[in-house]
Amino acid sequence: MAERDPIIISGAGPVAMVLAVALHREGVPFIALEQLDEPFVDQRAASHHPPTVEMLDNLGLAEHMIAEGLKSPVYRFHDRVTHDVIAEFDLGLLADEVKFPYVVQYEQYKLVRKVIELFGDDPTFDVRFSHAVTGFEQFDDHVMVDVERADGSIEKIRGSYLVGCDGGRSVVRKAADIAFEGFTYPEKFIKIGTYFDLTAHDDRIAIRNYFSHPEEWCNLFRVKGEPDKPDIWRFVVPMKVGETEEEAKREDAMQERLKRFFPRDEDYEIAYANVYMVSQCVADTFNKGRVVLAGDSAHVNNPIGGMGLNGGIHDAINLAPKLAAVWKGESGMELFDLYTRQRHKASTDFTQAQTIANKKQLEERDPEQRKKRLAEMRATSEDPEKAKAYMRRAQLIDSVKAAETIT
Ligand SMILES: Cc1cc2nc3c(=O)[nH]c(=O)nc-3n(C[C@H](O)[C@H](O)[C@H](O)COP(=O)(O)OP(=O)(O)OC[C@H]3O[C@@H](n4cnc5c(N)ncnc54)[C@H](O)[C@@H]3O)c2cc1C
Repeated sequence: MAERDPIIISGAGPVAMVLAVALHREGVPFIALEQLDEPFVDQRAASHHPPTVEMLDNLGLAEHMIAEGLKSPVYRFHDRVTHDVIAEFDLGLLADEVKFPYVVQYEQYKLVRKVIELFGDDPTFDVRFSHAVTGFEQFDDHVMVDVERADGSIEKIRGSYLVGCDGGRSVVRKAADIAFEGFTYPEKFIKIGTYFDLTAHDDRIAIRNYFSHPEEWCNLFRVKGEPDKPDIWRFVVPMKVGETEEEAKREDAMQERLKRFFPRDEDYEIAYANVYMVSQCVADTFNKGRVVLAGDSAHVNNPIGGMGLNGGIHDAINLAPKLAAVWKGESGMELFDLYTRQRHKASTDFTQAQTIANKKQLEERDPEQRKKRLAEMRATSEDPEKAKAYMRRAQLIDSVKAAETIT
């Protein structure tokens, strides 16, 4: 028998909104509950890899991202010690394998804003801000979700299934008592955005760059500015172990960090700065009864390689047709087990493994190992077949394919 209660989504971040659009396309009603009173201007993810762009294209979202973001076909690895370019990877090599042979730089908050702009007036696209999920109870044929509104009032909302898209500290995951094993790095990361145009001074800098250094590796990415502002360059670097957020965000400390990277007499104009605690964790299971997890609520990882949100969007795209089939009564809840098998593997064998390896690659301290790693990276980039294999893994093309083969 077809179920009639809507699907409840906890959160209205990027993964929740992609899931919402996909469910909307399937004609399945949902209610997305977001604790904040409006979409959060979140400066975390920006890089969308080729398979993700294709998935978003299928939802009619890619054309907006491409028009409003930056296309980045090439990325580079640099040695921050010698200032050499070690390797360049050109996604154009995969042009006959993927529809979009480039990364699109488009901040996650722009994606959320765009979805709200495109669908917000549709009464069936039910996103409720100022609604924090505080817990839930599940029954044989429905879930009751506890919600606290901004005015302090509480409410119970009935749904058929509950999807936790509520980020790394997911209330849904915790209330479902699903373990989240892994580790947290001792050092935090700081992201500093500046309007200073680095390419005007060094034409070896691409839109996406990784710098290896034994003490201060760096990720450097360009994102498009707001309509009346220049583009922003985002630096992500490790902080010293024990350094506090307050210390790291002091103006002189940020200037020092930027000038260490690219010395100049004048100060940098800083657009924003954020400090992040970084962990590598995966939920034991992504489903329990009528509850399913997607995005950071199911897995978190370091941002080197730009994989967290991509993996979360891949979860949403994998999950939506399964949720729709179960909701329509065409299949049983065992489809959620398949979702876990597929996406858990993609998360552990690909995103976790690759992001941990990426960090090791950039921060290698042993001089011999460092030399070896950089030489290997260069050799990989210089051999087209090896470069393609590397990019298929790094751009999560392999992870999507591997998940598809799991039955
Ligand atoms: C510095 C940095 C750079 C990154 N860059 C990239 C990148 O380039 N590419 C990439 O793929 N990934 C990147 N990531 C990772 C990426 O930001 C996350 O994977 C992504 O935000 C996950 O999206 P999400 O929707 O699952 O969770 P979130 O973005 O955390 O959204 C969760 C939403 O749920 C809401 N919420 C939370 N609790 C509740 C509750 N109880 N009730 C209701 N609502 C709730 C929150 O307010 C929020 O709106 C980066 C991360 C960092 C730290």
